[in-house]
Amino acid sequence: MTEPLECPSGPSINHPSLWDLKQFEQNWSIFVQTLMKEEASLLIPAARIRRQIEQCETFVEVHSNWQSIDAANRLGAWKRLLVAAEKACRNVLPVCARCGQCCRLGSPTLHLEDLRLLKEGKLPREKLITLRKGEPARSPFDAKPFILSEERIKVAEKQDSSECVFLIPEANQCSIYSERPLQCRAQACWDPLPARDSAEQPFLLRKHIFEGIEVLGEVMAQHENRCSFDSLSAAFEELGASKGENVGKVLELLAFEDHFRGFVSEKFAIPAPYLDLLLGRSFVRMAPLFGFRVVEEGGGARRLVPDSPGAQS
Ligand code: SF4
Repeated sequence: MTEPLECPSGPSINHPSLWDLKQFEQNWSIFVQTLMKEEASLLIPAARIRRQIEQCETFVEVHSNWQSIDAANRLGAWKRLLVAAEKACRNVLPVCARCGQCCRLGSPTLHLEDLRLLKEGKLPREKLITLRKGEPARSPFDAKPFILSEERIKVAEKQDSSECVFLIPEANQCSIYSERPLQCRAQACWDPLPARDSAEQPFLLRKHIFEGIEVLGEVMAQHENRCSFDSLSAAFEELGASKGENVGKVLELLAFEDHFRGFVSEKFAIPAPYLDLLLGRSFVRMAPLFGFRVVEEGGGARRLVPDSPGAQS
């Protein structure tokens, strides 16, 4: 709780009748956190429940009038608020409270049905990435990562974050809400069934997006042949097994993949942001998956630096 207040006529107390608005808000935050811990068995994100509670009439009324409620009535108002909060917490409404939590936990994977959004220009291609076969991925239904047996196309996430690029964080708003992908439309934190059903729908693949452009089909096949995710994984495994001796092989592979991307971008006039969709993320960007990051040394030289305890360069 907040620092006890000095009461001139007795011991220090922390009583609603003495709170200004700031202290009201501090105590409210503490109460909500305690409530969330008690309800930890709920699968629904705490931020979403808090949002629902703060949208209820009692909260809006008590919070906006707190300054003008006289001291004698503040305890009553506070108690009413606690009762309303506990009720809202146990009666999660089947509506989106726009807490933004599901958009912060990861971006959507696209399904064939979403191809329409790409064709109509509603889902810009430079905001999409391909996760290739063999890459680790996360499912919205299970926190444990799994290995992809087939590629997936996803909306990109913000740098060093799992937040979807379309989330406007200050407003908790989706910038493409009316044209959001199937997975987002199906996702409901109070009911996992629609999202599970949508996951049964066929996934969107690069061959659907670039259908009829033979040359790009050939580029993707060549890239997979020479720069598969498995080849990167094997090179890092060898690096680990050799206790850092085989670093040259990893660096060569990174350089080759970089060169491949540059060549494709130049020869086919494909802007760099589209390459994450056409070829997947670059090997350089994927080094952290193996506990390393790439440091540019100048003059084109590169060094691998351990990014996590236990990795060896
Ligand atoms: S596309 Fe919109 S609704 Fe879907 S995760 Fe991104 S911000 Fe959220």
